[in-house]
Amino acid sequence: MPPQAAVYLASQVKKVWLLARAGSLHASMSQYLVERITAQPNIQVLTQTEITALIGPQGALEAVQWRNRESGEGTTGAIRHMFLFIGADPNTDCLAQCNVALDGKGFVRTGGDYGGGQRAFETNRSGVFAIGDVRSGSIRGVAAAVGEGAQVVAAVHAYLSQAGGDVGTPAPIERLERK
Ligand SMILES: Cc1cc2nc3c(=O)[nH]c(=O)nc-3n(C[C@H](O)[C@H](O)[C@H](O)COP(=O)(O)OP(=O)(O)OC[C@H]3O[C@@H](n4cnc5c(N)ncnc54)[C@H](O)[C@@H]3O)c2cc1C
Repeated sequence: MPPQAAVYLASQVKKVWLLARAGSLHASMSQYLVERITAQPNIQVLTQTEITALIGPQGALEAVQWRNRESGEGTTGAIRHMFLFIGADPNTDCLAQCNVALDGKGFVRTGGDYGGGQRAFETNRSGVFAIGDVRSGSIRGVAAAVGEGAQVVAAVHAYLSQAGGDVGTPAPIERLERK
């Protein structure tokens, strides 16, 4: 679950289990959050741990099984509520087919990040912009996505005005299909 949610839930319930596949919370969390989590006596953090089974024969969760990835040791906990937070997988395969530059994880490179003299939020393809979670380097929050949306309008206007109202005919690209 998101670390902030773990801290909040700890104030509402007897016990919160936080299972992380990485070897340490520091791998994907800010130091202040790690400190807030470890300061909560009723949050038990298990690192190097992956869930192997959800048990609920009547259709409602009754127990969770997990395994330590190092030792292989398995554990079953009587847990009736579970929240997943397993990261983002950008849906950008179709953009790669259009030669829009992506970073190593598939997020769209833009502007300063791309380093090719583009406008803010512009990709390596002139007139193609990316904002929000899909953008490489985005901080992935609602406020950031909305803010980038407001900001990109100026860059789009700049592009259109430089193109003198003639933005040309878009190059033919393959039909884009959602996954
Ligand atoms: C569980 C969870 C909890 C969160 N909690 C918070 C929170 O408390 N506070 C906060 O600030 N942020 C939170 N976030 C993050 C926040 O939701 C995102 O940062 C924000 O929604 C990003 O907005 P976006 O418009 O960039 O992307 P999205 O909201 O993901 O919108 C992208 C849209 O594009 C559509 N799409 C995808 N591929 C295609 C395609 N090929 N063609 C057409 N459409 C497509 C998708 O269906 C989607 O509708 C949370 C995220 C999750 C998953």
